[in-house]
Amino acid sequence: MHSSPTHTPVAARFIFPALLGWLLGSAAQLQQATLWARWIDGTLLLLALLLLALSAIRSLALRVRLVLVLLAFAAAAFAATGLRASAYLSETLDSSLEGRDIALTGMVAAMPQYNEAGLRFRLEVESAQLDGKPVRLPPRIYLGWYSGYYLAEGGTPTAGQLQRQPAAISAGERWQMTVRLKAPHGASNPYGFDYELWLWEQGLQATGYVRAGPRDAAPQRLARTSWHPVERWRQQVRDRIFERIGERQYAGLIAALVVGDQNAIERADWDVFRATGVAHLMSISGLHITMFAWLAALSLAWLWRRSPALCLWLPASSAALIGGVVLAFAYAFFSGWGVPSQRTVLMLFCVAVLRLSGKRWPWPQVLLLACAVVVAADPWAMLQPGFWLSFVAVGVLFATDPGAKRAAASVGDRAAAGPPQGGTAPLGGSGARAAASVGASLWALLHEQWVITLALTPLTLLLFGQVSVVGLAANALAIPWVTLLVTPLAMLGVVAEPLWDLAALAISALSWYLQALAALPFATFAVAQAPLWAGAVGVLGGLLLAMTLPWSLRLMGLPLMLPVLLWQVPAPQTGQFELLAADIGQGNAVIVRTASHALLYDAGPRFSRESDAGNRVLVPLLRSLQLRLDLLVLSHRDIDHTGGAPAVLKMQPQAALLSSIEDDHELQALRPTRRCAAGQRWQWDGVDFEVLSPLAQDYELDLKSNAMSCVLRISNGLQTALLVGDIEQAQEQRLVEQAQLAGENPLRSDVLLVPHHGSRFSSSAAFLEAVQPRFALVQAGYRNRFGHPAPSVLVHYEERGIRVIDSPHCGAMRWKSDQAQAIHCQRMQSQHYWQHHVP
Ligand SMILES: [Zn+2]
Repeated sequence: MHSSPTHTPVAARFIFPALLGWLLGSAAQLQQATLWARWIDGTLLLLALLLLALSAIRSLALRVRLVLVLLAFAAAAFAATGLRASAYLSETLDSSLEGRDIALTGMVAAMPQYNEAGLRFRLEVESAQLDGKPVRLPPRIYLGWYSGYYLAEGGTPTAGQLQRQPAAISAGERWQMTVRLKAPHGASNPYGFDYELWLWEQGLQATGYVRAGPRDAAPQRLARTSWHPVERWRQQVRDRIFERIGERQYAGLIAALVVGDQNAIERADWDVFRATGVAHLMSISGLHITMFAWLAALSLAWLWRRSPALCLWLPASSAALIGGVVLAFAYAFFSGWGVPSQRTVLMLFCVAVLRLSGKRWPWPQVLLLACAVVVAADPWAMLQPGFWLSFVAVGVLFATDPGAKRAAASVGDRAAAGPPQGGTAPLGGSGARAAASVGASLWALLHEQWVITLALTPLTLLLFGQVSVVGLAANALAIPWVTLLVTPLAMLGVVAEPLWDLAALAISALSWYLQALAALPFATFAVAQAPLWAGAVGVLGGLLLAMTLPWSLRLMGLPLMLPVLLWQVPAPQTGQFELLAADIGQGNAVIVRTASHALLYDAGPRFSRESDAGNRVLVPLLRSLQLRLDLLVLSHRDIDHTGGAPAVLKMQPQAALLSSIEDDHELQALRPTRRCAAGQRWQWDGVDFEVLSPLAQDYELDLKSNAMSCVLRISNGLQTALLVGDIEQAQEQRLVEQAQLAGENPLRSDVLLVPHHGSRFSSSAAFLEAVQPRFALVQAGYRNRFGHPAPSVLVHYEERGIRVIDSPHCGAMRWKSDQAQAIHCQRMQSQHYWQHHVP
């Protein structure tokens, strides 16, 4: 079988173009903004068959036949992916059902996730009714059931909003409940997380919440069924872990390792894991599953050899290989069958099948096969960073290790530096030899980690804008510690609970080490997010550097890595400025940038105790742009303007704080605050900034928080922007009067941040007459419960020919003073069919 290319059987030569064609076709389909009609995809499938038939004509030149095979598979993959997407989209939530009270029955399909606000769970819909009439819902939806209170916009609990506490629900239960749904909608920001794509991958076509208010029909458990046994088992194990381990932090980590519940890990821990580059270890990753398969195969081979009869029937190495894959599948399945686990199991499966059938394929073909199988199962996996990191990592291992044996089975997510070989290594030998081989394995592990780190650095920078400098030191200890000690203890704890105590102990030791590393001032290295070409060139450079070539050649990789390392997001010219209104849901957050300065006007809402616009959106965005803020302006104290402030202040220690928050506000402890007051002005790079409201004497009065909003005017003499927070009509009126006194109208602006998210208590006619903006930007949440922007207000803008742009339709909104005629919408930048099209 194994021979030089010239003697490869003709049939085998078609494998490479077929696999490549499949990948290219799938990738091309993912670029589509809208789907093609089904009949076009159907025709394309027929065309693929025709091309395949043509390629079988032996009288054609081999090269032509190879190209025909490539085209046939590309067309087939394109059409098949398109048809799958069409079928899925045909079950989308009808937009007329959004926000209505829908009575439904359904089955809980997965273990619920808890947070301090309540719980979230997946429901398989059985039937649904609106006003007594049956309606069709998507088959799988994502629901929240929140306890306690709603926060009103001012941050105070509203009367009468206390809800029924969430019941203890579990997978496999049938429930009857009233829900309110909306289409999958996520924030759209530059370099931001794509929640809509995540929901698409999870097969969830609507999100919403359980109506559990005092006047709603109480949710009812109809039955407990035997469906979803794996999910019920996972839930039981997770509950047992949390009962056993007092420290929530450690319990969460053990739960993540055993049942794949990453939500159980606390946010502060994630920060440490990311900073030290070991986040990949703390979830069920390819590395764990590969390691598990390896251990399982070794034990199985050892047992198998005890029985000559069994060995006669099937060689121990084959039995170990099959057993390893089957057990890896079981582990992946019980740990939640996440996308990375699916990838790994498919990859292991491919490698095992090849080996059992005695095929000796060249490694690029093995890699390509695994890639194509993963993509065939889930074409959208290609849009995930983890997919690229793992395949590039494995490719690097193959390319740099001339033996190219070890990595075939060790497909990791971040670090594929798994153990050598998948399953055929014999056990035994003398102690000294064993020790020597362990030493060699450890050395090999370290070397691989080094190679991968080197080669993946540009890719990681491209995908995440940040790499861990201490990652090598962290991983050198954390990989063996977590995979060989913590994970086995955590898993064996399922049958012997005291082992969980040991696992917690092991975690506490590791966590001490990691925290020490993360605290180092140079722990992470962040760069501005570079464009794709720079990343691709950088990955090439990293590969070159990692190859086993003479150093003179390898060093040529260094200059190739420079663009991705030194990339700078272009700043405005002197005298110009730009606005970036981030998509943070219901709240305000606008980045204002001049040639060498930047400020953030408001910091967006808080979503829950663990999550806010700061850590979810603004910190990653500021990091991707590599922006140092000179100033954070918090217009007023409401939580939809200050929610993200702690995270932003922590990341920007040099930023001053200007705000109207009261003297005993909790943020005062984080940064001394200067009161904003009319008359304050400064100039940055030829651009004037001026505070127009509130007046200094307003602080003596007991005004409501909205009235205290800091109003900021930004102007370069030609273009002007007006950021007004949540001012209401009284403040608008006063601004208009002040402007009349001033003579020339300082309110006249090109861009207005619409007051109070478009509430009907703002945007008075006189104010709009005075401002006369070209663009009015509304920062509001999709289907927010305040109904912002109010239709009656939108009419005021429309009558005056003012273009209103809102964040649900536009995503992040960007405007530049030197291109004052245009607003750039993040949602329009790269449109794809899986994104929500806001009606
Ligand atoms: Zn507000």
